[in-house]
Amino acid sequence: MTEPLPEPPTEPLSGDPRTDSAGVCPAEVFDGASARRHGVMVRGDAAALIIDGPDAIAATVAWSAIERIDTWPDAILLGRSGRPGWRLKLPLDAPAAILDRLPRQPRFGRLIDRFGYFKSLACLALASSLIVAAVIKAPGWLAPHIPTAWENGMSDDAVGDLAENTCHTPASDAALASLVARLDRDAAAQHLPPVHVELLKLDLVNAVALPGGRVLVFDGLLHQIRSPDALAGVIGHEIGHVRLHHVMQAVLRQYGLSLLLGGYRSNVTSAMGQMTALRFTREAETDADSWSRARLAAANLSPLPTAGFLASLESENGGPQMGIAAYLDSHPDPFARALAFRAVFDPSRAYDQALDRNAWSAIVNACADDVKAKPWTPFFG
Ligand SMILES: [Zn+2]
Repeated sequence: MTEPLPEPPTEPLSGDPRTDSAGVCPAEVFDGASARRHGVMVRGDAAALIIDGPDAIAATVAWSAIERIDTWPDAILLGRSGRPGWRLKLPLDAPAAILDRLPRQPRFGRLIDRFGYFKSLACLALASSLIVAAVIKAPGWLAPHIPTAWENGMSDDAVGDLAENTCHTPASDAALASLVARLDRDAAAQHLPPVHVELLKLDLVNAVALPGGRVLVFDGLLHQIRSPDALAGVIGHEIGHVRLHHVMQAVLRQYGLSLLLGGYRSNVTSAMGQMTALRFTREAETDADSWSRARLAAANLSPLPTAGFLASLESENGGPQMGIAAYLDSHPDPFARALAFRAVFDPSRAYDQALDRNAWSAIVNACADDVKAKPWTPFFG
């Protein structure tokens, strides 16, 4: 005897979100004010896009206020008029009730319709040369306007997999956080996204600032530097690169054309794997040092240990010591930098200490103490 076959379902099986009768799909919102991404549910009706999520994020946004910023391989990035920096990342398979109402990606089609082919070609040639000129000139004024969400996405793509290579213990995290808070204490009042400083398990003397407000201090530097106040000076310099928008300027300068032509995901990710590939201008280095000196002074920390660390990078006979090539490569001219830090030392002032002995040793030993942290293996090419 054979069992009767089950009745076929009378309603189509759900699964294709575009035919989901509820028309709801998950998305991510960046409010433009902080680095956090908020998971939300979105749906569309005739008048508006409805965003359900935390109170501060939930919104009903009229379709006329929705702007299409970009289309990525896996998502559509939307903006909102009157809310600079606000971004909504929508999956490509969002319900039709949303996708069909989105503004189209801007095209050149209308230009050709209006002016004719050859005039349009001339316009495009002019536009291309303007774009090339802009790419050369733009980084300085463009960098501060890169949306935080975009920068964070770039950082996640480029260095997100370093989680297992960074060293964390409760004591070292607390010590670093307190040091960063002292150096960058205006950030919260100015509603700036936080800077995340982490220790990278890599025996190389260096520290780098990355997109998305990330700063990595290499374990090798902690053993070379020998002073919490000098570490404050070095971290202050890297935070200065973030706050003065040098990181995005460097990204735009080095990858600007490929960013414009192909989107950052395909072009920058592999290149950014070499984190030390980002080069700042001499002017940016000088400005980051000035930023660091100002913050050391505001935190009542002496600039002398930083001067001492920088001077130590030049050996007695003028040549660089072993093991510090990476730092010197990305931060040239340590002797002139040391002099500038020394020059602002005030012998009449009673300076504080950046960290007490326990907090300092927690930072120095973090990579040895965090047994889960794996040494980072840089890849070249
Ligand atoms: Zn620098």
